[in-house]
Amino acid sequence: MAGALQELPLLHKAFAEGRVSYSKVRAVSRVAEPDTEAELVEVAMTKPASHLERLCAGLAKVGSDDGEPESVTSTGRWRWQDEGTLKVTLTLTAVDGARFLAGVTRAEYERVRTGDGTDVDGWSGAPSDIAAAMVVLAERACAELAAPAIAPHAEVVVERRPDGRARLADGPALSAVEESELRCGAAESERTVDGAGAVLNWGRTRRAPTVLQTKALSRRQNGCCGVPGCGRRRFLHVHHVRFWSDGGATDLANLVLLCGEHHRLLHRGELSIEMIGGQRFRYLDGDGHELVDAPTMRFDSQELWPFHSIDADAILPNWGGEPLDVGYATWVLMTEWERRRELSAAA
Ligand SMILES: [Zn+2]
Ligand SMILES: [Zn+2]
Repeated sequence: MAGALQELPLLHKAFAEGRVSYSKVRAVSRVAEPDTEAELVEVAMTKPASHLERLCAGLAKVGSDDGEPESVTSTGRWRWQDEGTLKVTLTLTAVDGARFLAGVTRAEYERVRTGDGTDVDGWSGAPSDIAAAMVVLAERACAELAAPAIAPHAEVVVERRPDGRARLADGPALSAVEESELRCGAAESERTVDGAGAVLNWGRTRRAPTVLQTKALSRRQNGCCGVPGCGRRRFLHVHHVRFWSDGGATDLANLVLLCGEHHRLLHRGELSIEMIGGQRFRYLDGDGHELVDAPTMRFDSQELWPFHSIDADAILPNWGGEPLDVGYATWVLMTEWERRRELSAAA
């Protein structure tokens, strides 16, 4: 049974001094006992959080091991919820889980990187919120894997109802904002259905730009999202400045490349774009203020540091970059704790 933070004074002290992060405290407090705390705090101070989490998970597992682990299979469920969102639940085996996290981590890295990819400093692993990265994975699969033209569920299909409203085929109704985002340059199919749901007409409308147009757009924006200061370079969406649904043309004077997040903000009305001619645009925030590239800040960093009880070197790592051998580290710690308990029992 793991001890609470007040029973772990060394951990508490290291946290108060800013020497271990909250995620490290959480990992250690799950497995530490008053008599095993010292070694774990030592590991927490010298190893990155990902190593510590693996080690603590290993210790918890050793502590609860009763014979062979049960064999498990990966399962995943999805369902549309009443409020029109999709709920996905995945339970993966260790191997599938590792593959999944590797894919999600690569997708997230590509999604948010702004430089040429050499700026890996500070990239600490799988994102805690994996939703955007999973959408990127799905978009990549749709773009790269061929499927029969009308394979149910293998493409995004919007149904047009007799009352003019749109809904996803076999899914929820779409708000006007969601519909305009989906229709903007996306390769989705549309079908018109009658009141009973029978398909009256399949249509695929030409609103996606050609490859040449997309290349020209990318050159014009140096390969980045058009919003000043954003700088994201991958998985950009082509947006019609005058909405396609309002009659905006699919030509360069009406198209910009945006990252997924800015594209969504735009369709929600929290960002807007004005054409100023010559294929140039102004970007405005929700209050109508123009967005410009952030000026470099000049300030004394000491003035911004309100935590005077925390030493300036508190978060300097003393980890040398060596990998973690979970099995060995677990064995060393367990052996040491076992030995100490035997000694104190004998005393
Ligand atoms: Zn758009
Ligand atoms: Zn952006």
